[in-house]
Amino acid sequence: MTSDDQSQPPNAPQGIPATGSHPGWNPVTGMSGWNPQVGPPGWVAQPGYSPPRIPPHQQTRGLSPFGMPARHSWEIPLLVVVVVLTVLAYLFALLLLLTGSLDQYVLLFVFAPMLLWFGRGMTYATQRVNGVKMSPTQFPEGYRMVQEAAARFGMQTVPDAYVVLGNGQINAFASGHGFRRFVVVYSDLFEIGGAARQPEALAFIIGHEVGHIAAGHVSYWRQLGMFLGPFLPIIGNSLIRAQEYTADNHGYCNRHLGAPTAMQTLAGGKYLNTIVGFDEMADRAPQEKGFFVWIVNALSSHPVLTWRMWALRDRSRHGRLFLRPTPPPPAPYTGYPQTPPVGYSTTTTYFPQ
Ligand SMILES: [Zn+2]
Repeated sequence: MTSDDQSQPPNAPQGIPATGSHPGWNPVTGMSGWNPQVGPPGWVAQPGYSPPRIPPHQQTRGLSPFGMPARHSWEIPLLVVVVVLTVLAYLFALLLLLTGSLDQYVLLFVFAPMLLWFGRGMTYATQRVNGVKMSPTQFPEGYRMVQEAAARFGMQTVPDAYVVLGNGQINAFASGHGFRRFVVVYSDLFEIGGAARQPEALAFIIGHEVGHIAAGHVSYWRQLGMFLGPFLPIIGNSLIRAQEYTADNHGYCNRHLGAPTAMQTLAGGKYLNTIVGFDEMADRAPQEKGFFVWIVNALSSHPVLTWRMWALRDRSRHGRLFLRPTPPPPAPYTGYPQTPPVGYSTTTTYFPQ
């Protein structure tokens, strides 16, 4: 025991626990001179509380991995336009039918409710008879990811999920029939998951597809209201692209770390995905210019990959629907730094004598 040892009060007998008889002695901390206002000996007084600084840029709600995912800002305005035009098309078709026209487009729109119901029933039945249904004993990792995604989005019912033979195609989709909802993942895309491969990317993709369901994209009434969409060249596809950005926001909220590899897989396939440069490809989004780039995107059902990657990387704003992304302005040039970086010395002698 040295004279600096503070574990016993100066006058305390050796080996006997201190009691409260010594003023200033704290039997819990074993220190004397404890002032709660200041802290233990050696501490400095803490400064008063000051709230954290406001971030320099307000984060767009729903685009971060936290909180609930956002709907793309263009989705509802475009949906309103397409639904209004579709209702007008239904009324026009009915009018033509009443005047005796039996044109195939007139019949298509008059019988649209029945055709859509029939098609959805067929799609659902195809998975029920040919698909490998995920369960606690069949593809349990995928099954768990679907459950987690549904819970993440606050869904009351967990959708069914199937793996179907992909034959080399990288694809997945979500649909429904009646009140039932389901997700289908092609086997070639599902293969990127699994413990030894890219489970994060598969969780992003499953989050994307479950997100289509959570956002109401596969509702019968919604699809009936969008029936004219495929006949509206730019507007229809733009609505579908907005929905894809919305689903990507869901995938990002579900497992943001899987977003790059999911995009790399869409770009290079299930074998080359890990050597596709995500940043290098996303960087090309503002660089590839021109009318044909614009029209290819405008007529696409999904945002073109470079723009989609850019949107998944720049989470400060919604993905671009019509115009290519623009990079942030370069930081102003302030000259060569006056102070050398840490570790450098201006007086270093390279050839000491
Ligand atoms: Zn999608």
